[in-house]
Amino acid sequence: MMEGLGQLPVRAVSGVGPQKARELEAFGIATVQDLLEHFPFRYEDYRLRHLSDVGDGDKVTIQGVIHGEPVLRMWGRSKSRLTCIVLVDRFFVTAVWWGRHFLKNQLQPGREIVLTGKWDARKREIAVSESEFPDAGAAKTGTLQPVYHVGGGITQAWLRKVIRQALVQYGERIGEWLPEDLLRRHRFMSRKRAIAAIHLPGETTDGDEARRRLVYEELFLFQLKLLAYRAANRGRADGVAMKVDRGQVREMVRALPFALTASQKRVIAEILDDMESPYAMNRLLQGDVGAGKTVVAAVALFAAWTAGRQGALMVPTEILAEQHARSLKGMLEPYGIQVGLLVGSMTERERKGMLASLQSGMIDVVVGTHALIQEDVYFARLGLVVVDEQHRFGVEQRSMLRRKGINPDVLTMTATPIPRTMAITAFGDMDVSTLNELPKGRLPVKTYAVGHAMLNRVIGFIRRQVQEGRQAYVICPLIEESGKLDVQNALDVYGQLRQALGGDGIEIGLLHGRMAAAEKDAVMQAFKDNRVHALVSTTVIEVGVDVPNATLMVVYDADRFGLSQLHQLRGRVGRGAHQSYCILIADPKNEIAEERMRIMTRTNDGFEIARRDLELRGPGDFFGTKQSGMPDFKLANLLTDYDILETAREDAAELLANPGFWTDAEYAGLRDYLQREGVLEGGRLD
Ligand code: ADP
Ligand code: MG
Repeated sequence: MMEGLGQLPVRAVSGVGPQKARELEAFGIATVQDLLEHFPFRYEDYRLRHLSDVGDGDKVTIQGVIHGEPVLRMWGRSKSRLTCIVLVDRFFVTAVWWGRHFLKNQLQPGREIVLTGKWDARKREIAVSESEFPDAGAAKTGTLQPVYHVGGGITQAWLRKVIRQALVQYGERIGEWLPEDLLRRHRFMSRKRAIAAIHLPGETTDGDEARRRLVYEELFLFQLKLLAYRAANRGRADGVAMKVDRGQVREMVRALPFALTASQKRVIAEILDDMESPYAMNRLLQGDVGAGKTVVAAVALFAAWTAGRQGALMVPTEILAEQHARSLKGMLEPYGIQVGLLVGSMTERERKGMLASLQSGMIDVVVGTHALIQEDVYFARLGLVVVDEQHRFGVEQRSMLRRKGINPDVLTMTATPIPRTMAITAFGDMDVSTLNELPKGRLPVKTYAVGHAMLNRVIGFIRRQVQEGRQAYVICPLIEESGKLDVQNALDVYGQLRQALGGDGIEIGLLHGRMAAAEKDAVMQAFKDNRVHALVSTTVIEVGVDVPNATLMVVYDADRFGLSQLHQLRGRVGRGAHQSYCILIADPKNEIAEERMRIMTRTNDGFEIARRDLELRGPGDFFGTKQSGMPDFKLANLLTDYDILETAREDAAELLANPGFWTDAEYAGLRDYLQREGVLEGGRLD
């Protein structure tokens, strides 16, 4: 904590007047604490180097003695080139300044000079960006200068000065957050010293140590918050302790057309335990595409029904809602369970009818899209909420559905395997269950990347697959923000395939986002019934669609898709007993796209792909949405600070388990922090 510095307006720093204070505020810096926690994102290196260590094109700082008279050439009104020979170590170097004619008088032979700039090894020339004279107190020489995010009227030089001034005035008042034992265990420097060092690393020489300590602190506080939420949630025990009829659940599972995998059984047991316990379940179920999450949801919804509770399943698209409603009906209706559907495209009358049935409790399980979270949707006794493909929904949307009941159990499912760093960061407040095996008998999908020149052979391959009784998807890419062009693209491919394959009695279907729901439904149904053999589609079928007889996935312009998206698309095949194929058609135009194709042809492992996706895209982009719950860290980088994250999480868990944490004075600061963050007052994370 920074005693009081969080209340002290930034104007208190000398040199910050009302005007600058306003500019800082527009930049998110209102208090002295904000200012001191505005950490640099990199450093400008002014440490002296020897020419022998310098590579061609490097940016360097070197020191030498001016050897000859400077030479100035000027042209036009303001263009100039100033050169001067400088003796550095034992070498003559030409220093070149552009547009700095006014420096000429300072370049006296014999005078020491420090030059920073880009080194040209062949010409033995340095293109000078900054120069300083030791006899005039070369201030930057030998230092690392912090580089901050700046903007508006705030300049780099001014901000450096002001932060330095803030450290002088208030540095001593920076208090400690971390408990003594953690500081000792990890040999961390004090917070006061770390903050000074991160801003002025050259002067303290322990910038790396400062960073290690501050990154840890950032991740530790975040994990402490998440884990405290989880603990508080459990401690409150204000959820519904459902009386699940386990015997009936066992019977239902036995009646399924397949035996559950060991992972499915384990995960179902975890979920049922949560549902029977008095705290509200907040569980993330992750599993690769095709791992069989839907049936897990079905069993959970069934279990809720045996306990007399309603269940809701929210999915991102209407196609998926209809598919899930149909398969849930198949599994649940034999037991007399009423399954309903609620989607945006229903008529007002249908919708009113469904709302009334939900409110009266006539419907036991409802499947729907965003339509489920409209204001006028009420449930009689909602006990379980399942959210499928969670990455398509924001935190706010998930919690809106949760609020339709009184602390219902919540199961969130994701088919985008989330690397552990992400999982414990974005979902650190949740319990995580993982389906880590695919149902038996699945053959890995064989993946090929081909150029557009191979199109005819690809079409021939579609023909052969269909003639063997199988089916194919043909996906056309999303064209930036233009639904219209998208559809046109799909229409073109549709026409092309009909022409090429129609003569062989091969039925081609078309599916895109602009079609009416009833039309989409009809096409999807025809594909499921194998009346349509090849389905040309935009990415509307990307997630969740399940047609086990489909064995071929063809993706046009595959280089326009991200890795995780390609993996999702590929996950539409390989769901049955027949060998499946994925053909990526692309002529990649850059290395990253090429690398994506390579990765896809080499692995079927969703976790591996997610990890590579993360590397290629960076964490901010991973979920493609701001609402995903990924926080913006000031210093921590989830890719490179992975070890620190793991340690911080362990330490936070250990601390929370220590009864002393809730009473000892030493932890008062951390308890205050949790209080301020609303954790101890009973708010849940969302
Ligand atoms: P996802 O995890 O991608 O949502 P689904 O729930 O759609 O996967 O399941 C994929 C396919 O696997 C479905 O056709 C489903 O019926 C089938 N399936 C699920 N569990 C098993 C199992 N234990 N054995 C055989 N097939 C299964
Ligand atoms: Mg699914």
